[in-house]
Amino acid sequence: MARRNKIYEGKAKILYEGPEPGTIVQYFKDDATAYNAEKRDVIEGKGVLNNRLSEFFMTGLGNIGIPTHFIRRLNMREQLVRSCEIIPLEVVVRNVAAGSMSKRLGIEEGTALPRPIVEYYYKDDALGDPLVTEEHIAAFGWASQQDLDDMLAIALRVNDFIAGIMFGVGIRLIDFKIEIGRIYEGDFHRLVVADEISPDSCRLWDVKTGQKLDKDVFRRDLGSLTDAYSEVARRLGILQQSATPITKPTIVN
Ligand code: UDP
Repeated sequence: MARRNKIYEGKAKILYEGPEPGTIVQYFKDDATAYNAEKRDVIEGKGVLNNRLSEFFMTGLGNIGIPTHFIRRLNMREQLVRSCEIIPLEVVVRNVAAGSMSKRLGIEEGTALPRPIVEYYYKDDALGDPLVTEEHIAAFGWASQQDLDDMLAIALRVNDFIAGIMFGVGIRLIDFKIEIGRIYEGDFHRLVVADEISPDSCRLWDVKTGQKLDKDVFRRDLGSLTDAYSEVARRLGILQQSATPITKPTIVN
């Protein structure tokens, strides 16, 4: 097989040129990083789980009319996606105070917010992805006012969709991050949900016990990350039931 051209290697994924123009292959690695890559490890099976979980969420979003970059899953670790111009912002939606918001504003983790709060962080590792306002985004031209309006609407719809699905399987969606890209069609562009949606980029707590089922398990050394992600996948019907702890996830097609 011809060697593929690597376009970009990030912390958790590698992007390769896709088989047709305008497509990209996303390869999900097992690498886990936190605190701007100061903490790192290799978690066997994480990439396989995130590939499958992201496929699940992106397909669901597509089904309810929210455009995404996702085309199809290719194999255990790879998916084919449409190439898009990533807006250099991390769009975070929060339903419950946690993480950096709790620290910044002194709100106890677990406090329900009066309404979902959308925040934007400028994607720049060297700066540690600083929180920015719509004023910064407009003034520095990272997104137009129209893009901002569309991003806000998309972010809130994604929130309702994922929160609903998760609640149905006994999981509370605390917060999550998405990335949004532009796909050009002639002189116009439309926005699509890009990158990935997985427990790496969400906070997910068991509704009854409050147990964390997301990357905080790794960030805060709370146990096995693969067990946590497998539990999410199992509840969503993606993983076969298994009595034994799963290190190499069994994927249901
Ligand atoms: N998040 C992410 N990538 C980042 C920063 C945050 O996926 O580079 C996600 C994180 O998993 C959480 C949400 O965005 O679900 C909010 O993260 P927060 O601002 O609380 O930052 P953290 O506490 O993770 O540093």
